[in-house]
Amino acid sequence: MKDFLVEKLRENRDLSDTELKALIETNEHDKALMTAADEVRRERYGISVYLRGLIEISSYCKNNCLYCGLRAGNKKAQRYRLSKDQILSCCEEGYALGYRTFVLQGGEDPHFTDDLICDLVKEIKERYPDCAVTLSLGEKSRASYEKYYEAGADRYLLRHETADKAHYEKLHPEDMSAENRKRCLYDLKEIGYQVGSGFMVGSPYQTTENLIADLRFLQDLQPDMIGIGPYITHKDTPFGDKQGGSLELSLRMLAILRLMFPYALLPSTTALGTIDPMGRELGLKAGGNVVMPNLSPTDVREKYAIYDNKICTGEESAQCRRCLEMRIESAGYKAVTDRGDVKRG
Ligand code: SAH
Repeated sequence: MKDFLVEKLRENRDLSDTELKALIETNEHDKALMTAADEVRRERYGISVYLRGLIEISSYCKNNCLYCGLRAGNKKAQRYRLSKDQILSCCEEGYALGYRTFVLQGGEDPHFTDDLICDLVKEIKERYPDCAVTLSLGEKSRASYEKYYEAGADRYLLRHETADKAHYEKLHPEDMSAENRKRCLYDLKEIGYQVGSGFMVGSPYQTTENLIADLRFLQDLQPDMIGIGPYITHKDTPFGDKQGGSLELSLRMLAILRLMFPYALLPSTTALGTIDPMGRELGLKAGGNVVMPNLSPTDVREKYAIYDNKICTGEESAQCRRCLEMRIESAGYKAVTDRGDVKRG
């Protein structure tokens, strides 16, 4: 039997707030949601799952986001930053493993000045002209984003985290704002980047209305990639005693996103794999079509601890690659390593 709400969402790529609330707040529609999401992903992307090599370049951060283990106020955090040579070695290893997208992610580390970032981007693009370079280095001025783009950066990932102003303020210190984060995203889009945004599922104080606001914001932004994953507690943060987000709700939101944004690149995230051993496979079945295997040097991986018990910290890059390829195939999909640009239209 067809599920009326799910079919309406598939057809219109939209629902009223009341209808979305009904989808989000019960598990009654989940089976139909997952089936429809998988059908839509297959229509658009077939069984391809795009691999992006993730390099975590620094665990230093000047910000103090209440949920994140890398927050400046976490005195127990172990800090490291990779040198240019180390980052280039990661790319070399990644290229040999077949990756054609490198994602440079890190805390907001003032050591990485605009000049350093531009130099790095230029060098990677020069060595690997057939690769896409994605940056995920937080909030910067428009002028900085323009410089990175001119240096050759193709994509930028910056989750909006939560679109609701009041909720944003509960998750962040006073010197950060939802307004500035959104400004960054619109700037990035205007400059010409392929943009990724997204949010945490089940973050402290999050309501269904907040999740609906996230969907509405994404409808306005129309990003190329939407990264979501469950909030996971980090013990050395002010939210150390808060509950994490559930697998069920994370998968439900992923499937809703696939139906609302059929064209989007949707990662099945490490956070999903952290809260459940089959999380990433289930994420692919719920509409996910991207995974981001870790390419960081093994000896720093534990230190990039945004939340507790993060997986894949003990493996070599090649092991990570094989493990993920196996997981993707066991879920019924195929790992592909080309640049995997977004398929709009
Ligand atoms: N400094 C960069 C990269 C942050 S890490 C930036 O600001 O974009 C990437 C993502 O990890 C964040 O956007 C956030 O959504 C997620 N994250 C941080 N702490 C988390 C936690 N405790 N649980 C789950 N996800 C978390």
